[in-house]
Amino acid sequence: SSEDAEPTKTICPYCGVGCGIAIDREAGGDDVQFRPWGDAPVNEGRICIKGGAATQVVNHEDRLTDPLIKEDGEFREASWEEALGRVVEELSRIREEHGPDAMGFYGSSKTMNEENYLLQKLARRYGTNNVDNCTRMCHASTVYALRTSLGTGAMTNSMADLAEETDVFWIQGANPGEQHPIANSQYFRQAVLEGATVIQVDPHANKTTRSFEIDETDRHMHLQLEPGTDIPLLNVVLKTVLERHEEEPEAGWIDEAFIEERTEGFDHLTETLADFDKEAAAEECGVPLEDIELAAEKYARADNAAIFTGMGMSQHTCGVDNVQNEINLALVTGNLGRPGTGVNPLRGQNNVQGTSDVGAMPNVLPGYQLVDDDEARESVEDVWGFEVPDEPGLTNVEISHEAGKSVHGLYVMGENPVMSEPDANRVAERLERLDFMVVQDIFMTETAEYADVILPATTWAERGGTVTNTDRRVQRMRGVGKIHENTRHDLEIVSEVATRLFGEDAGFDFEDPEAVFEELREVCPIYHGMTYDGLGEVGLHWPCYEEGDEGDPYLYADTFDTESSLGRIEGVRHQPPKETPDEEYPLILTTARLEEHYNTGTMSRRSPRLNDRHPENFVDVHPNDAERYGIEDGDYVRITSRRGEIEVKAQVTEDIKEGVIWTTPHFAAASGNVLTNDVLDERAKIPEYKAAAAEIEVAVGP
Ligand code: SF4
Repeated sequence: SSEDAEPTKTICPYCGVGCGIAIDREAGGDDVQFRPWGDAPVNEGRICIKGGAATQVVNHEDRLTDPLIKEDGEFREASWEEALGRVVEELSRIREEHGPDAMGFYGSSKTMNEENYLLQKLARRYGTNNVDNCTRMCHASTVYALRTSLGTGAMTNSMADLAEETDVFWIQGANPGEQHPIANSQYFRQAVLEGATVIQVDPHANKTTRSFEIDETDRHMHLQLEPGTDIPLLNVVLKTVLERHEEEPEAGWIDEAFIEERTEGFDHLTETLADFDKEAAAEECGVPLEDIELAAEKYARADNAAIFTGMGMSQHTCGVDNVQNEINLALVTGNLGRPGTGVNPLRGQNNVQGTSDVGAMPNVLPGYQLVDDDEARESVEDVWGFEVPDEPGLTNVEISHEAGKSVHGLYVMGENPVMSEPDANRVAERLERLDFMVVQDIFMTETAEYADVILPATTWAERGGTVTNTDRRVQRMRGVGKIHENTRHDLEIVSEVATRLFGEDAGFDFEDPEAVFEELREVCPIYHGMTYDGLGEVGLHWPCYEEGDEGDPYLYADTFDTESSLGRIEGVRHQPPKETPDEEYPLILTTARLEEHYNTGTMSRRSPRLNDRHPENFVDVHPNDAERYGIEDGDYVRITSRRGEIEVKAQVTEDIKEGVIWTTPHFAAASGNVLTNDVLDERAKIPEYKAAAAEIEVAVGP
């Protein structure tokens, strides 16, 4: 656009907060500039370092600009005709020789609702439910627990109502100061300045800890627990609340009327806690009992208390039970169904919520309709005109485990499993055993290196569609057009592959993203009332059942969306991580992310402004451990686990507890995921990224 033309309003491509930004394409050139969008609905013009640097990757020199085909181990350029022909040929062959379940499809939380909708439709038309996305890695367990016990796998409340009404923020295993900077600075910080109290439960002191020391009162608390002891800690809280209620029944420790009218399973909780030993549990958590009791008091006695939950809770083999215990606490204290309360997962990617909403998961169709629910499945089949397999497919980690066994081919749209999955060395080995893999992406990712065909896609800034943020707000993205002539938008690629596979009339040929959205709303009840016009510049929260509905900023005002309409309480017991320290690997390794980088770093590592701040990986080591191992701040160290080793710089700090070390997954040269354990939560199939046994020693360095 020229100088006086309006910049294009779109949404930041990084995190799930969903900040609005504007972009501008240099007149006659290919560079895309960032512009603030002053009255953007979520952030009102504010952005964090990532949002401000997001345009740096759009016209990056590393962009893939032509289709590539691997021949004798080397990539060569190919025409679209040849590349697409090869994809269609291989997908047809695999289905003929091994059946449809021999393919796996990875949607992407970095691509838009329309694109993921079409990809999961392609998988199902192909004949398999083996389709998933990286929500599996971050919040599968949260979604499972929220869905089963409350009805819907999403934030119960919205950032705005929480900021206005919450008196106590209980933040467990989440780090909004680092991961959701604008939610933290714009919403939560505001509430804190107006008197709200923060209780943080986390093994690591981090930006959230520091940002809430802002008003220098001592009302905030940080309960620095041992990794993997969230259930016992919350059981201490629950038991304290129940005991105090016995002592002072009128004091409002629990909400008897709410428990009576709106929940089931309370007796199961009291039975589970009957012989629970608070003192022993507090000891196990490594937190003084009186601190946990005081935190329990602050939460239970608040008018409105809200729980925030993150990957510190979800990425465990007991992830579902971790979140269930948060739900238990919210239900017994009546902190649900009102503004300023609830159980609120802070979602990671800009469209991780939407990717799940539109059905890019093996067990659900669009709108979380179960594939094995005959009535729901048939209603979708009526619109699609073909039959959908009636049993859930494999999750992405299961697909990865089956690669080279029952799974022969993989279709990857914009994900990077070689870095994002745990035990990364094994992931790469398994991908090598596939007959065929096609990757569509903007850069040569660590995963694309293993592909047979690479299809060059466009970036977030070049195309339009919708994304859904962490508080269920669906917003439109708008693009400035293609930078590289020979790239294609993800939607066009999926549409072309499917049309070649299944024919012109198979329902994959759409004029534009809006036409896809129109079909999506037909099969997705929670989006049914939305149109592109209705979304406008402000967006709409789901559920939005009929046109004109405003959408719900908070859920469950009158009933829960479970079969009984009641919220489900269920007592849970401590389950230690699957790998605990021993003589060979005496430390607990835990992992988390940085503000400046995004997951596998495909974009953020290519952004000079972000990479300059954190060009390489590091590990936090407690001073006592450093002394024991002879490690000085800044030394290179080798970290080993049963699965691999990496060399990184040591940062000696009291942010971490003694006996625990902390690193990140972002850097290809030394990713924490080489070390992590790929054991899964049985129900949600999420891996245990947050606790593994490890050893450390001084290394020479590069
Ligand atoms: Fe982008 Fe998230 Fe930063 Fe907002 S908070 S600018 S959405 S990365």
